[in-house]
Amino acid sequence: MLGRVLRRASRSSRLRGIIEKAPVSRGVVARFIAGYEIADAVRVTREIIDDGLAVTIDHLGEDTVDRVQADAVTAEYLNLLAALKERGLTDRAEVSVKLSAIGQALPGDGEKIAYDNAVQICQAAADAGTTVTLDMEDHTTTDSTLRILSDLRKDFPSTGAVLQACLYRTEEDCRALAHEGSRVRLCKGAYSEPATVAYQDSKDVDRSYVRCMKILFGGDGYPMLATHDPRLIEIAGSLAARYRREPGSYEYQMLYGARPTEQLRLARSGEMVRVYVPYGNDWYGYMMRRMAERPANLTFFLRTVASKK
Ligand SMILES: Cc1cc2nc3c(=O)[nH]c(=O)nc-3n(C[C@H](O)[C@H](O)[C@H](O)COP(=O)(O)OP(=O)(O)OC[C@H]3O[C@@H](n4cnc5c(N)ncnc54)[C@H](O)[C@@H]3O)c2cc1C
Repeated sequence: MLGRVLRRASRSSRLRGIIEKAPVSRGVVARFIAGYEIADAVRVTREIIDDGLAVTIDHLGEDTVDRVQADAVTAEYLNLLAALKERGLTDRAEVSVKLSAIGQALPGDGEKIAYDNAVQICQAAADAGTTVTLDMEDHTTTDSTLRILSDLRKDFPSTGAVLQACLYRTEEDCRALAHEGSRVRLCKGAYSEPATVAYQDSKDVDRSYVRCMKILFGGDGYPMLATHDPRLIEIAGSLAARYRREPGSYEYQMLYGARPTEQLRLARSGEMVRVYVPYGNDWYGYMMRRMAERPANLTFFLRTVASKK
């Protein structure tokens, strides 16, 4: 219930204005966000790589409302990739991109604008020796995102997809994407979705996640298991053994600031672990979704607010 309210709040511009201006917010977001500048993302990436993990970096922002902003976000990714290349980090660090931040949501030819911008980012990533993963947003964008993915993969076959276990359609999408060379991040799904398209009970989402893992492990692609759920991580380990998958033929992914000890434990046991590192000023939607997922994050936020009074 609370989760649903917070997920809805993540799209409220009024609440956004209030929370973004609260002085305490900046302190709280530091736990989950690398910082505001490319230099912050690069510094945190270096620390994580030095610990033996890999990284995917997200420049925070979504639902871009004008062309100028979409192009500015694209330019930011090009600068980020140049900085990663210059610091020699691109063998362990890639980028995650939300298509709505680079034009997908613009009226008219938004899909074409997003594709053109994504091509520039994928080309810069290829030049730097790394990859791009397209984050998945709410279900109204799934078809468009998968169309853009399919077009991008013609020239950039390593472009990563994201599928959300909460959606009824996802098992079928997993089957379509479980082919050789196909990088697929499987997550539960962070958006509030209606019963017409998505499981409403978390147990059903978990069951769907397991079915999807079986399809991905059983296929020829590269599964990227994005979850902090201890039960699902344990099942992933058993499935990897059952499908004779060596570490490195799949990976675990977790968010920056979430279960850092578990991230290190998995990496030290020989698993490939990638940390999703967000940076930038536009942190509101991202933080609200994290609080919706985990009441402890909300408690942490409220405790910090209370202690500043
Ligand atoms: C790398 C990555 C990329 C993602 N990309 C996308 C995307 O493109 N699109 C999208 O819709 N969603 C994305 N997500 C978010 C995802 O869909 C979920 O909303 C989010 O990961 C929470 O689900 P969960 O699987 O961690 O399990 P939850 O159901 O949130 O938690 C299950 C259990 O995991 C444990 N747990 C969870 N979080 C923590 C924590 N912080 N500390 C300690 N224990 C914890 C608890 O035991 C909890 O009961 C991404 C997530 C990750 C990790």
